[in-house]
Amino acid sequence: MRSLPMHVWRKLQLAVMLLSEETSPRDILVVILSWIRDNYKYFSVEPFSSYGFDEFSHVNENLMPVDYSSFSSSDIAHFKKVILEYQAKDVEFIARFLRDTMEALITVEVDKQCPRCESDGMRVFIGKHNGLLAYQCNVCGHSHYIDGAKVEVGGLEFANEVVLRNIGLI
Ligand SMILES: [Zn+2]
Repeated sequence: MRSLPMHVWRKLQLAVMLLSEETSPRDILVVILSWIRDNYKYFSVEPFSSYGFDEFSHVNENLMPVDYSSFSSSDIAHFKKVILEYQAKDVEFIARFLRDTMEALITVEVDKQCPRCESDGMRVFIGKHNGLLAYQCNVCGHSHYIDGAKVEVGGLEFANEVVLRNIGLI
């Protein structure tokens, strides 16, 4: 896709204009997810499909640990600024930025260092098929299971609040 339809992009921008630094992370997530679900046909194709928009659209936001996310009020200001600056044709940037934002909203970060790029802070995921805890680097995207094993492509899913509480991470 070369561009989102102007009216579709405008709808997100209008919703985002209403956000303030007091808006909760959960309300921001709801704004993004409702917009994706209302306009789903535009997000089932590239570049959105390769950024996992299908998976995001099926996330149950009520079960996710949004209250424990590292998303802060300064992130809200940055989020507003970026969304209002991008244009409907910036599909690649929009897809990547919204993916990063949604990931920051629905995952928790732990104080671990990435073994590949040595950046601090990794996000917690769960293995889709083995249920094992996994860490993913914010910066380079490297991921590994808690036992050190490499994660297969597409092998991870978002960890909900109950899972994280059971393993004592929140
Ligand atoms: Zn890394």
